[in-house]
Amino acid sequence: MGKITVAIDGYSSTGKSTIAKQLAKALNYIYVDTGAMYRAVTLYAIQHNYVGDQEDIAGLVNDLPDIKLKFVPNKALEISEMHLNGKNVEREIRNMEVSSHVSKVATIPEVRHKLVEMQQQMDTEKGIVMDGRDIGTVVFPDAELKLFMTASPEARATRRYKELLERGEVVSYEEVLENVQKRDFIDSTRKTSPLRKADDAIEFDNSDMGLAEQFERVFDYTKRIIAEKS
Ligand code: C5P
Repeated sequence: MGKITVAIDGYSSTGKSTIAKQLAKALNYIYVDTGAMYRAVTLYAIQHNYVGDQEDIAGLVNDLPDIKLKFVPNKALEISEMHLNGKNVEREIRNMEVSSHVSKVATIPEVRHKLVEMQQQMDTEKGIVMDGRDIGTVVFPDAELKLFMTASPEARATRRYKELLERGEVVSYEEVLENVQKRDFIDSTRKTSPLRKADDAIEFDNSDMGLAEQFERVFDYTKRIIAEKS
């Protein structure tokens, strides 16, 4: 059966990566978490004081050629981990400090240009599931399957809050809700490739849907698209 490109976009913490990982595994496709790439650039910006109290966007843009990102497979965990300039930063890029700056960094056109180019180069032979904010609109406008995930801000903040607690982060629910809403606002109002549903994307609201049900629906739909394209 022919392979396709799957683009999954949507608001923060809508479970895009969970569904994307499950789908990639079931189809034996490559999974790419583009949020991890924006997060890694943000971590670099924090480490070099380019964001935060003294902002220096020009400095960050100037350093872009020195920022080397790589997904390295971790066979035991069955995931790919983000490496920034040779260091595994998979854990660090998920913390609240990175979350609070990432949407700002993601508005910088030069950052987007670099990362979109890298993402487009990853899809040389199809068989890829990529999640993010602009995959169906900008990165792969011709993707055969586009999903757009939504859920209420409260449902999303609750999921994210539980995830962070499980990882031992000290955060309050209110802080997480505020971060999710702020990121959505910045992501959907930025000038360069704002978050929006592609006209041909299928919308999934999973506020009241369990993971198993959601996967079943998405997988059925995907199989149908693959059969049609074959
Ligand atoms: O997917 P995740 O929530 O980890 O993404 C973190 C942030 O990276 C998003 O809030 C958004 O600002 C940015 N992002 C983006 N475009 C993408 C993926 C992520 O702007 N394709």
